[in-house]
This record gives sequence, structure tokens and C-alpha cells, in this order.
Amino acid sequence: MVQKDPVYLDNDDKAHQGFMNEALKEAQKAYDEDEVPVGAVMVVEGEIIARAHNTRENEGSPLGHAEINLIQKAKTHFEGWRYLNASLYVTLEPCVMCAGAIISARIENVYYGTEDPKAGVCKSLYQLFSDKRFNHRPNLHGPILQDQCSSILKHFFASKRNKKAIL
Ligand code: ZN
Repeated sequence: MVQKDPVYLDNDDKAHQGFMNEALKEAQKAYDEDEVPVGAVMVVEGEIIARAHNTRENEGSPLGHAEINLIQKAKTHFEGWRYLNASLYVTLEPCVMCAGAIISARIENVYYGTEDPKAGVCKSLYQLFSDKRFNHRPNLHGPILQDQCSSILKHFFASKRNKKAIL
């Protein structure tokens, strides 16, 4: 497999940070709903067209990841199944299910907040987006606002452990 390092953006890139901050707001919604805090937004021509977060626990669905929910929500914006010129911002590196959906939707750019060493397939475990055997390969950019995107996850899992300790 040909490996491609993600593009490391200039830290001063305020537009990307602004969109990732909006994805973080979605992650906070997930946190408040007792879901693993992952959030995502979709951007077309500089405008946010959809927002979503992880709903796996509350919907009891393994498909309830932020990116899958986002792709469903953004559907009305596009004429067919191809999400042309779309950029997806997500606080955590996509898993294999979401990366597959992103490739299938022909999303052009993926911006991630922090890496997921246990399940990420864009950089950590696999580099699916740079595998030349696929006929569509999204551009991968990140990490963006890594401290914030990883600390909300760490905080969530630490609070879960504390609750268990009290019980
Ligand atoms: Zn996923």
C-alpha cells in the first residue's frame, strides 16, 4: 500500500480551525447526551451545510457515528449520491465504516481533529485515502485543534471510569 502523510496545515489557518471548532460543538452535544464525544460538519463553498454527532448509544445503532449521520443529513443538499466539492470536518480520525462511506460519497476533503490509534484507518491503522486501488481518494488534512479534540474524549472516558469507581 502506498502511504501518504496527511497534509499538516499551518496553525494559523483560521478557516479550518473555525470549522473544526463547529465540529467540536457537535462533539460537546454528544458528550451531553452521554455519547462518545465525536462531532462533524460538512462544508461546501465555505458554508456549513450539515452538522452531526455520534448517536450510537441513544439510537442503539452501530451505524450511529458522526460521519454517517452527517452524510445522511447532508443528502438533501446534493442532487445525486455524489457529494461533489464537499469537505468533511470530524474531530476524530474516521473508522473503517465511515472512511468507506466517505469514499463512496466521493467527498473531496477530510479534515480530522485527532488521530485514533485504535480504529482510525486514514492514518493510524491503514491509510485508505491514499490507496491508489480506489478510484476516489479524498484528500486528508490534519490534525486540526488536536488538543481540544483529544481532550474532550479523554475527559469523557475519565468521567466514565470515575462513575464506575463510585458504583
Ligand atoms: Zn466511524
